Amino acid sequence: VEYYLDNIRRKQHLNAFLEVWPEEALAQADAVDAKLAAGTAGKLAGMVIGLKDVLAYEGHALQSSSHILDGFKSLFTGTAVQRLLDEDAILIGRQNCDEFAMGASNETSFFGPARNEVDPERVPGGSSGGSAVAVQADLCLASIGSDTGGSVRQPAAFCGIVGFKPTYSRISRYGLVAYASSFDQIGTLTRSVEDAALLLEVMAGSDRFDSTASQREVPAYSQQLAPAPHYRIGYIKDCLERPGLNAEIKAATEQALDRFRGQGHVVEGVDFPYLDYIVPTYYILTTAEASSNLSRYDGVKFGYRAPDATDLESLYKKTRSQGFGPEVQRRILLGTFVLSASYYDAYYTKAQRVRRLIKEKTDELLREYDFLVLPTTPTTAFRIGDVNKDTLAMYLADIFTVQASLAGVPAISVPAGTDSQGLPIGLQILSGAFREEHLLAFANSVT
Ligand code: GLN
Repeated sequence: VEYYLDNIRRKQHLNAFLEVWPEEALAQADAVDAKLAAGTAGKLAGMVIGLKDVLAYEGHALQSSSHILDGFKSLFTGTAVQRLLDEDAILIGRQNCDEFAMGASNETSFFGPARNEVDPERVPGGSSGGSAVAVQADLCLASIGSDTGGSVRQPAAFCGIVGFKPTYSRISRYGLVAYASSFDQIGTLTRSVEDAALLLEVMAGSDRFDSTASQREVPAYSQQLAPAPHYRIGYIKDCLERPGLNAEIKAATEQALDRFRGQGHVVEGVDFPYLDYIVPTYYILTTAEASSNLSRYDGVKFGYRAPDATDLESLYKKTRSQGFGPEVQRRILLGTFVLSASYYDAYYTKAQRVRRLIKEKTDELLREYDFLVLPTTPTTAFRIGDVNKDTLAMYLADIFTVQASLAGVPAISVPAGTDSQGLPIGLQILSGAFREEHLLAFANSVT
């Protein structure tokens, strides 16, 4: 704990943590020491973990990096976080992220961007940017983030670490601030696949506080990391031909595929006809869900309240105008529009149908192949300020991560070297739903 606290102090310019809990973490460490001596320590004993600022931890501030939750403290601890504590993890602090997890660069945070340690003028990715930097810069051993459309995988790729999103519903969402509830999933940012497996094993499983959490048995993922000798691996041909895909990322992906072929796996190019529709479908559905989820922040129940309101309506308007940043406001407006009576069928219903097609085709491919392999991102980490101005470009850059989110299948980003400037490149692997043990075993053999 002292080691990490020292690193956090020395690397404050990275803006990875919004808040650090030194006394508590040291006290937890003492308690774990005593348990280790008594032989009663849990599976995560000594693991120092940071939490993205979207996870509820009783008595601790929770803000989703937003002004609108100013001063709010959580009244309870979410299920995943409680399970970490029950296995003697040590929680060291709350990490910076995009406001309400909306973004891909950590630049929409009310607290300013986190910075990539490889080049502090560049973004760490997002929305779990601070969580990725914290692991990259050795400020904690692992971070718990959330992934709605790529938020653990994309920053992991930009920071050269492992980012893992399990199957939708594998981990309870109780105590996770809602962005788009039919997509949101807790995920991990770690240095190794083993750590990701261990954390999943601890956090996964049914939960009486989240009726959508899967009832399936939780395998001992960390004990099943030996890969099979032969896999069937597919890659979507169109992904590698995308205009805008960085040539070095394309080359790294092709090299990985060649390596898999050389190792005796079957590697085949496949067609996926919906690539052009996945980003629009994702943004119609997630903004619709967000506009509904975020209606609860009204200046009455939580956090910030506009001081100059004169009646109830002006209280709502002023609180939300002052409390939400521009990206969150844009998404609430977009989501409200696609749900409005005259446009509902044209946008929301249609997007639901397209999601179904995308899911069915993805599931079909993942029955035919054990894994789909694709780049995590079309580019490496961009400069702070460069893309944030161009909202559409930022949305389109989610092209490779949102497929797994629309289909609800698990996906992991593993480091695949660096480009000629030394910037990390990520390789993404998808498997069928609830096949995490296979996905993790294969990913482990790749890293
Ligand atoms: N970049 C995507 C978005 O802005 C993904 C964010 C996420 O997974 N939370 O919606």
